[in-house]
Amino acid sequence: MHVQIALKKADKVERLTTKEAVPLKDGLLSFELKPYELKTFRAANDAEIAKDAQKVLAKQGLTFKLGVKVTGARAAKDGAVVEIEGQEPVQCDRVLVAVGRKPHTEGLGLDKVGITLDAKGRIPVDAHFRTAAAGVFAIGDVIPGPMLAHKAEEEGVACVEQIVTGYGHVNYDAIPNVVYTHPEVAGVGKTEEELVAAGIPYRKGAFPFLANGRAKALGQTDGKVKILAHKETDRILGVHILGPRAGDLIAEAVTAMEFGASAEDLARTCHAHPTLAEVVKEAALAVDGRALHI
Ligand SMILES: Cc1cc2nc3c(=O)[nH]c(=O)nc-3n(C[C@H](O)[C@H](O)[C@H](O)COP(=O)(O)OP(=O)(O)OC[C@H]3O[C@@H](n4cnc5c(N)ncnc54)[C@H](O)[C@@H]3O)c2cc1C
Repeated sequence: MHVQIALKKADKVERLTTKEAVPLKDGLLSFELKPYELKTFRAANDAEIAKDAQKVLAKQGLTFKLGVKVTGARAAKDGAVVEIEGQEPVQCDRVLVAVGRKPHTEGLGLDKVGITLDAKGRIPVDAHFRTAAAGVFAIGDVIPGPMLAHKAEEEGVACVEQIVTGYGHVNYDAIPNVVYTHPEVAGVGKTEEELVAAGIPYRKGAFPFLANGRAKALGQTDGKVKILAHKETDRILGVHILGPRAGDLIAEAVTAMEFGASAEDLARTCHAHPTLAEVVKEAALAVDGRALHI
C-alpha cells in the first residue's frame, strides 16, 4: 500500500513540476533526471497490470528506482539530497516520504482489558468484529485486511449492524483497490498469480482502451480491462483495470462479483455508447473470445 500512496503522491507532483518522480522501494520519492534500472513494481496487485502501469508511467516521464536502500535525506541550498546506499546521492527539488503504515494500537491500554495484539500489532477479531474483551469491538486499520478507507467504512457499518440486529457482513473478496495515478489502476478479487498458485482453472479476457471511442475522444487510450473468470462456471473471480477512470469503472465489477455474476452476465449487459464502461463489457466478451470491436 505504501508504494501505492507513494505513486499517488508522485503522480500529483509529477504533474505539477517538469521533473521526474521517483517512488523508491522504501516508499521514498525524489526527483531527478537520470535513467534507472527497473525491477519489480507493484502499482497493481495483478502483475500484468502492474507491468503495464509501469510502462505507461515511464512513458510519461516518471522514473522508477527500485531495490535500493535509502539511508537519509537532507535539505540542501537548492532543494534536497537523498542518500542511497552504494550509490551517488540524488539531488532533487523535494522529497516526499511514504514509508508505510502500521496499526495505531500502542498506548491504548489494550493489554489491561485482555487484548493481545498479533505479530503485526493488529487487534485480533472474530467474524463479528468482537475482540477478546467482552463488549469491545474493532474495525478498520487496526484489524487484519487491507488498510483502506472503504474497507474500514464497510466494517464499521457491519459491526454496528451486528451489534444492533445480530446480522452484519463484509465480503472481503469484493473490496476494490484503486491507485489514483493518471491513468488510474484498480482491481478487485483474485489476481492471475493467485489463481495460478491456488490451481483454480480460469479464462482471461482483456480489452484495450485504445479500441474504445470514448477513451479516444478523451485522448486517454493507455491501458486495458482484464477479467478473470472460472473456466467451468464462468463466475468472475477478478477484474483488473489500468486506464481512464479505472477507479470508477471497477464499481461495476465489484457489483457483479457481489451478485456472483458470470463473465457472460457482464458481456450480455447493455452498456451505453460511447462510454469507457464498454471496455468492461468487451473484456467480458473476450473471456469467451467474442470481443466485438477489435
Ligand atoms: C497518505 C494516505 C493516503 C491514503 N489514501 C487512501 C486512499 O486513497 N483510499 C483509501 O481507501 N484509503 C487511503 N488511505 C487509508 C485510509 O486513510 C485508512 O485506511 C482509513 O482512514 C482507516 O480508517 P480507520 O477508521 O481504521 O482509522 P482512522 O481513519 O485513522 O481513524 C482513527 C481515528 O481514531 C483516532 N484516535 C486514535 N487514537 C485515539 C485515542 N487514543 N483516543 C481517541 N481517538 C483516537 C484518530 O485520531 C482517528 O481520528 C490513505 C492513508 C494515508 C496515510
